[in-house]
Amino acid sequence: MSDSIFTKIIKREIPASIVYEDDEIIAFNDISPQAPIHIVIVTKMQIETLNDLNSDNAYLIGKIALAAKQIAKDKGIDKSGYRLIMNCNDDGGQTVFHIHCHLLGGKKLSWNPA
Ligand code: 5GP
Repeated sequence: MSDSIFTKIIKREIPASIVYEDDEIIAFNDISPQAPIHIVIVTKMQIETLNDLNSDNAYLIGKIALAAKQIAKDKGIDKSGYRLIMNCNDDGGQTVFHIHCHLLGGKKLSWNPA
């Protein structure tokens, strides 16, 4: 499997504005923000889609949620609120095939997935 763009960020081969990192998770500002705060939370393990989750790696989704909670607090939006989104494959709008979660906030978000 060739390195995804997110693996290249993890390896510091391309730059990103990193806001959180631990042994298994990294998070950085989205290059094309859809809200005042738009952060991509990524597993360091390169897993292509949610369909590739299994009982060995599913704990990473919990780690993403814990990272999101910490980042939301650091950004001061834990009380006002935020949204987590994971896109899967074409109809879901996935463009980078390396599991990640979008953290969106900083304004009242509308709800129109159509
Ligand atoms: P997806 O569409 O796969 O759910 O989300 C991929 C996200 O990664 C998009 O929101 C896109 O703007 C973001 N993205 C793609 N390439 C880069 C990059 O090189 N740097 C950063 N910071 N974000 C990226």
